[in-house]
Parts: sequence; structure tokens; C-alpha cells
Amino acid sequence: MITGTHSLKRLPFPLRRIVLELFTTFRGRLALLYIAIEFALLLFAGVLLYIVLTRQVYNAVDEQLHYQAATIASELQASPFPFWGERLGRFSEHFNGAVQLVGANGLPLFTSQQGLIGRGGSEVTQALQRAMEGETAFVSTRSLLRRDNMRIIAIPIKRGNEVVAVLFLGRNTREIHDFFGSLYLIGGILGLISMIISAYAGYVMAQRALQPIREITAVARAVAAGDLSRRLRSFSQDKEIAVLIRSLNKMFQDLEASFESQKRFTADASHELRIPLTVMKGEIEVTLRRQRKAAEYAEVLRQQLSTIERMERIVDGLLTLARADAGLLELHKQAIDIGQLVREVGEKHVGLFASKHVHLRIRADHGLEVLGDHDRLQQVVFNLLNNAYKYAPEKSEVVLVCEKHGDQACIQVQDQGPGIPEQHLPHIFEPFYRPDSARSRSQGGAGLGLAICKRIVDVHGGHIEVESKEGAGTRFLVYIPLYIPEHTFRRRLREALEKSFSKRAA
Ligand code: ADP
Repeated sequence: MITGTHSLKRLPFPLRRIVLELFTTFRGRLALLYIAIEFALLLFAGVLLYIVLTRQVYNAVDEQLHYQAATIASELQASPFPFWGERLGRFSEHFNGAVQLVGANGLPLFTSQQGLIGRGGSEVTQALQRAMEGETAFVSTRSLLRRDNMRIIAIPIKRGNEVVAVLFLGRNTREIHDFFGSLYLIGGILGLISMIISAYAGYVMAQRALQPIREITAVARAVAAGDLSRRLRSFSQDKEIAVLIRSLNKMFQDLEASFESQKRFTADASHELRIPLTVMKGEIEVTLRRQRKAAEYAEVLRQQLSTIERMERIVDGLLTLARADAGLLELHKQAIDIGQLVREVGEKHVGLFASKHVHLRIRADHGLEVLGDHDRLQQVVFNLLNNAYKYAPEKSEVVLVCEKHGDQACIQVQDQGPGIPEQHLPHIFEPFYRPDSARSRSQGGAGLGLAICKRIVDVHGGHIEVESKEGAGTRFLVYIPLYIPEHTFRRRLREALEKSFSKRAA
């Protein structure tokens, strides 16, 4: 590994670049890994090939040597001593190597072009001794891989049981050596070429696969610097990278949406609180311009109080939303008869609706239990009824229903008011969103009621919907999962299982 930049600095620039590229980039490290793996594989294959091939080649050489030595030895043994020289002379003419005959006294009796005694150090002498004792011995002079090496056989020539001479046949292993030399040279060159090719292929592949990473880095930097509209445009055939690009784009999009809504929320909240503050300031300034009667001060204070109450409502609403968004909305959950809750809230509103000549019709089923916070759920029904009251025209009807829908309780509030234009429906549950803000504000609304309803319903595991048509009234539907106590749940599960078993048995 690179130990430090200091030693790197001493390298010439192009080499330094290559070393840096190899060790500090993913693609470089991948190329190095390819080289290392291929080198290890080639080394292993080379060693294996060497062991197997040398054994086979030398076995073949030994067998041939043994065959030739045994043949000539038996001929010598069968012929009288004076003919040995001539026989060996003829043999050595055709034999591709050295021939030497050593007498029992250790003196050479016949030597072809080169003598074998004295070559290869003590091994040849030991082979001579073993042959003198009647054994056939093989020996190699020096290491087999060096040039001019010889593979030598020492075979005893006997008269009866007595060893009278030892015949040495030595074959030069240069050819074998040269064969292995060329084999390793060609193998090495091919291995080196294949290592370079595969390292280059790995490098190029990694570079191509990592191409989008550069764009990701650039876009992530731009987004971090505040340009939230930037998106990744790279297209990758690699599934992992394609998934990463899609996920990141989705993340950037959500981030932008969240930033935008945060910005809008802050702007809306300040705006909503600024208006009553400006009104209050103006009224107080006008009042203080001259001396007034006590009754006039009292009237101004009463107006201020109502403005402060409105601001208090907005701040409370903001607090509820902030807590819900942070997952800190405190809920005191218990089993609640939701039908009864709806009926109670509805009945409290009957008088108010009647004062506007609006008929509030209530229909709520009995025995529908949900697990929830009583006050929060009351707040939902209250907000929806409050809106219906605000928008229902005189002499119309508002229907409040609570009934079972599958495994959910469904609360509906329907009025015959002006309805909500279709384009506003997708945003109606966003904080401060009001299709007609001036009219809504004049009626005391800040556009937080439905947003709060949605948060409360969400934390109860339910959902809220709106159906509306301009001029044809509005219907809000709140779904909350019904509460099934543990023992009832277990009983139902058992019944369902029994039913399915009995069906299968039938
Ligand atoms: P607000 O306090 O302003 O009423 P909400 O969040 O309760 O705020 O409602 C947001 C907007 O949705 C209202 O300003 C109004 O335009 C519209 N809206 C809510 N309920 C109804 C309804 N029953 N009929 C018509 N419009 C409605």
C-alpha cells in the first residue's frame, strides 16, 4: 500500500498518477484485485503444471535409461570381458549421452566423450557405491532445471553374484530444460497479457459503472448548497445504479417538496399572525389618539380580546400540527364508543344549527368501538361540523352519520353548501390552504382545521376523504379502524381457522 505522500512525491508525475489512481480509486483497486487474483491463479497453475510435467518427463527419461542400461548390461554380462570395449564403443555411437564403465576397483574401464565420475558431486559417487552393492541407482547432477544437467543411471554388471563393474549411462537434460524454459516463457507472457487485459477490462467496467457516481456527487453538492430543483439525468443499465438514481431523485423531490411546504408554512403562519397584530396595533393607536370614555376603552379591549382569542386558536393549531409532524402528539388512547361520541358532539350543535335554520340530522350506530383519544376525535367531529355550519346555506340540511364500513367506523359530515372547486380538493388538507381565504378569514378560519383533522385521523391509523362538487355540497368521510379486543380477535381467528379446516376436511 501507499505509505505516505512523501514517498509518492519522488515518483515521476505520470507514474505517480497511475499509482494514485490504482490505490485511491475504486476502479483502480478493482483492477489491482483482478491482477492479484489472476497472478495467484497463474502461479498456482504454473506450480501444479511444473510438478506434474517434470515428474512425467523424468519418469519417461528414467524408464528409457533403465531399459537401455539393462539391455547393454545383460549383453555385457553374457559376453567375455575383452569384447566389452567394442560393444560399449558401438553402443555409445548411437547413444545420445555419456557412457562410462567403472571397474570394481573404482577405475574407469571405458569412457565415451565425457566422464561421469566426478560430476554432480557426491551423488554420483553414492550411486556408484549403491551399484557396487548390486542396486540400480538414478541420480541427477545438480538441480534438474539448470542447463548441462544430466540424468544418470548406475547399473551393476555381475559375474555370478559378484559385481565386477558398474555401467553409467548419462543423458543430458538440456532438451527438457529448454522445453520447460520455453513453456514458462510463453506461459508467463500469456499470463502477463491476460493479467493486463483483465485488469484493464475491470478498470473500464468499473469506470463505466461508476460514471453516474460523478453526477450523483455533483448533484448532491448542488442540492446541499441549496439548489433543490436539481435532478439526476444519468441513465444506467446496471439495475443497482438505476435504483440508486431513482431513489435519490425521489429523495431530492421529497426534500424539495418538504422544504417548499416548510417555507410556505412559515410564511403562511407569520402572515396569519401578522394580520390580527396589525389590526390590533391600528385599533390601539386610533384609540390612544385622544382621551376616551371608560365604555369606549372597554369596547376596544373586548375587540382586542376577541382578536387575541383568534390568535390563540391559530397558535394552538400550529402547536398541534408541529407536535403531530414531530410524532409528539400526546394521545390518551382508550376504547371509545365512536357512535356515542359522534351523537354527543352532534346534539351539542343542534341548537347552533337551528339558529341558522339549518337542520342537523344525526344517525349513529351503536356498539362501534375504536381505540383512540376521546378529546382528539371529538375535535375532528367538531371541526367538520363547524365547517358545515359555516358553509351550509339557510334552510338546508346537514347530515352527520357514524356507521360500520367493513372493519372500520365511518364518520360522515355532509352539507348542501357551495362545495369546493375540484382543483382545490387535493390541497384541502394542507395547513393554511383556503380556496377563498378572504371569505374564510372573515368567518374566523385560518385554514388549519382540516389539516389538524387529517393529522389526528392519521395517528389513529385511519384516513380522511372529501367528496365535493362546486355548488352541490360537500361530504367529509373519516375512517377509523374498529377496535377488536385481544380476546375477541383470538376468538375470531380461531373461528376462521376452524372454518377453513372443516372446509378442507369436507
Ligand atoms: P378554516 O378554518 O379556514 O375553515 P379549514 O381547514 O377547516 O380552515 O378549511 C379549509 C378550507 O376548506 C376552508 O377555507 C374552505 O374554503 C374549505 N372548506 C372546508 N369545509 C368546507 C365545507 N364544508 N364546504 C365548503 N368549503 C369548505
